Amino acid sequence: MKVTFPRMGTLDIPLKAFFTSLGIEVVVPPPISDKTISLGARHAPEFSCLPLKINVGNYLEAYEMGADTIVMAGGVGPCRFGYYAQVQREILADLGINYDMVLLEPPKGHLGETLRELWELTGRASPARIFRAGRLTWAKLKLLDEVERLTAKARCREKNEGQAGDVYRRALTWIDAAASPGEVALAGERIRRAFAGVELKDVVPLRLGLVGEIYTVLEPAANLYMERFLAKLGVEVERGIYLSDWVTSHLFLDTLRMRRGQRAVEELAKPYLGHSVGGHGLESISYSIQYARRGFAGVIHIGPLTCMPEIVAKTILPLVSKEWDIPILTLFLDEHSGEVGIQTRLEAFVEMLWARREQREKGRVSR
Ligand code: SF4
Repeated sequence: MKVTFPRMGTLDIPLKAFFTSLGIEVVVPPPISDKTISLGARHAPEFSCLPLKINVGNYLEAYEMGADTIVMAGGVGPCRFGYYAQVQREILADLGINYDMVLLEPPKGHLGETLRELWELTGRASPARIFRAGRLTWAKLKLLDEVERLTAKARCREKNEGQAGDVYRRALTWIDAAASPGEVALAGERIRRAFAGVELKDVVPLRLGLVGEIYTVLEPAANLYMERFLAKLGVEVERGIYLSDWVTSHLFLDTLRMRRGQRAVEELAKPYLGHSVGGHGLESISYSIQYARRGFAGVIHIGPLTCMPEIVAKTILPLVSKEWDIPILTLFLDEHSGEVGIQTRLEAFVEMLWARREQREKGRVSR
């Protein structure tokens, strides 16, 4: 068995660690490129969501490298994520590719099913071995999230352009190479030292929240590397969701019905949206309010073109923006989105936010 999975941000690093420490051979799809996207777009239905198309591209590239089994998160409605696996299986079968598919997301509340899937996949490994693999995976996930935050802080303040990006890339290789939780901890110390060595300007960046559909938030190739671009404009970006949050809430807490944090998120969004609309539509509203409360300069809301939950959020966010006095820019992305077009809109938005801050500092606008 040679296992592959969809790429999403840096998720390949902990997933690879999990499977290899259980003795399962892994084929990591190549980093997402124009070729990946056009491969997926060529074979997926035109109006399917961008992440589905990119996933198909990942699977086709991994297949060329010898993968025969796909492990992916499954889903339940109300958005199209619930049909991802079935649609992808059909697309691949039409191309004469017969992958085995293992869905890891459980129906809500059925922990036993998730564990059984996992157990079968690992060749019925002992619980102790699965636990050790899980610990290593979790340690890497947490450190990767910390690296994303450190990079966001350093990138918008760095004196020498590219220095934070260099540390970021090295940090990923150190985390990838760590073979035990102890080694991950050592990598963490090394990474913090490396970031402390990045020379910073004495500036106060604009703080923006990035909310929206999880894949476009976490995968730089899907959002056209907008965080990197925003950093050049002096913007520090905080994501509404990080990898470990998603794994915690989506794969485990849902299953264990431990949704206290989620209830607080829902409460905040309630005056605008009283129930889940799938994906992270409700969270986009709730997180935008949280950013307004925390005094952020603005919010960027992103999602794939035709993404149902984010379309719902987009219709509500203008009201949130008005009532909470926080500018919000929505951008929908697909395989035809051009980097320059997106950057032009980001530039205009950020310029407006700098002007707004200047006015406020001069006391002309009261808040
Ligand atoms: S959240 Fe949006 S992009 Fe993701 S599956 Fe649902 S509709 Fe598609």
